[in-house]
Amino acid sequence: MTVGYDDVVRFVRTFAERIAENKTYLTELDSAIGDADHGINMDRGMQAVAGKLDGQAVGDLGALFKTDGMTLVSTVGGAGGPLYGTLFLQFGTATAGKEAIEPADWAAALDAAVAGVQSRGKAELEDKTMVDALVPARDAFREALEEGASFGDALRRSAEAAEAGRDATVPLVARKGRASYLGERSAGHQDPGATSSALLLRTAADTWNGSD
Ligand code: ADP
Ligand code: MG
Repeated sequence: MTVGYDDVVRFVRTFAERIAENKTYLTELDSAIGDADHGINMDRGMQAVAGKLDGQAVGDLGALFKTDGMTLVSTVGGAGGPLYGTLFLQFGTATAGKEAIEPADWAAALDAAVAGVQSRGKAELEDKTMVDALVPARDAFREALEEGASFGDALRRSAEAAEAGRDATVPLVARKGRASYLGERSAGHQDPGATSSALLLRTAADTWNGSD
């Protein structure tokens, strides 16, 4: 399986669609422990990203991801915009000059994305943020490759780990972002950012399985 330029475009477009489908859900999650805008923010950003996909120079994945990241930074406010912007910008740095993504490239992209999000947001595991979905996804992907899994299986295991990490945010008390203002009252609710991040990893697994 090779993930080429068109597959990456399909991944980004499908993520935009899934964010649109989950806009209300993500916003409801954010209304419980935040300010009820995560779905609205992400949808605004991803619609803008999707709108720019057609006009891009075909070939360089790094340029594609960097445009996505810059678009997110400039169209999404709040915490989510800069954090998702950083994530996509780091995907771009990791794939600069490449026209296809091999398993090792995606492992490097996840490493860079997690490092970027953590360096910007300073969240650690169990702070009840998107990091709780991203770190397990990164680790599960690399572990699967080390165990000899195919690219497709490693992507699936990465998505499953992100979803388990998302679910594990429910009992946590938030230590970063707006939800942290609630203190103990943030426990018992699923983190919106971990939910959208799990969607991102699930989208990669779904859209890239079957690429050949
Ligand atoms: P805002 O909190 O500014 O309204 P959003 O609602 O779009 O922004 O995004 C909220 C999500 O951002 C949270 O659910 C959490 O996952 C994530 N988040 C907030 N602060 C941080 C941080 N410092 N590091 C990582 N993720 C964070
Ligand atoms: Mg919010």
